[in-house]
Amino acid sequence: MQQVRIIAIDGPSGSGKSSVSKLVGARLGFLHVDSGALYRIMTWQSLEHRVDTANPDAVAEFAQKLNVDFAAKDGAVVFLVDGEEPGNRIRTPEINQHASEVATVKAVRDRITGWLRGLTSFGDLIVEGRDITTAVFPDSPARFYLSASAEARAARRQKEEVEKGIANQSAEAVKASLLARDKIDSTRKYAPLKKADGAVEIDSTYLTLEQVVETVLAALPRDWTNGEVA
Ligand code: C5P
Repeated sequence: MQQVRIIAIDGPSGSGKSSVSKLVGARLGFLHVDSGALYRIMTWQSLEHRVDTANPDAVAEFAQKLNVDFAAKDGAVVFLVDGEEPGNRIRTPEINQHASEVATVKAVRDRITGWLRGLTSFGDLIVEGRDITTAVFPDSPARFYLSASAEARAARRQKEEVEKGIANQSAEAVKASLLARDKIDSTRKYAPLKKADGAVEIDSTYLTLEQVVETVLAALPRDWTNGEVA
């Protein structure tokens, strides 16, 4: 049986991981997996069940109990809680504020890492997050680290929030929230965000989305791209 192929993409908030992963996945027929959504679901459900997200023991206990179902839909693996996709309920400023704290808890990371590795039963995947290249799929031959200036990242996130009708925060507020999360994500004890040895770094500050997509495609093993790259 042919081995499942995994493209792993890490980077801070607003570095363009989601847009790039969706497009590369669609070009190659790899299902897109947004691992951040699982951390957001864990946070959302903790808050819904009145778990104190500042208490790691309480969060760890809750992490063992939460059930998420998985399905392939429209080129992605989607996540279902009680049979429903959470949609924008996991994209609010409140979830942004608590997600990084929840993501520091080892039991949360272990549970989500187990789920992500299990998704290989769906076939070839392009998985984005903070620890995909370093901890979840460190042996993938296709690993990328996306970066961009804090200003560019905040501007992208703010535009997205307004377009999706999620929030209407100032660029400064979005930047402050994003930098606060980056700090927690890159300094935490377990699986912190960092560029993995051997990962290809792409700074997207001055690149178009299409240029980043082409850069990723060009760096993949040649037999993965089905003639997509000249
Ligand atoms: O990617 P997104 O911004 O939706 O992720 C939300 C939060 O989930 C991040 O700030 C980070 O704390 C956490 N996360 C993580 N590891 C991943 C993906 C996300 O710790 N692989």
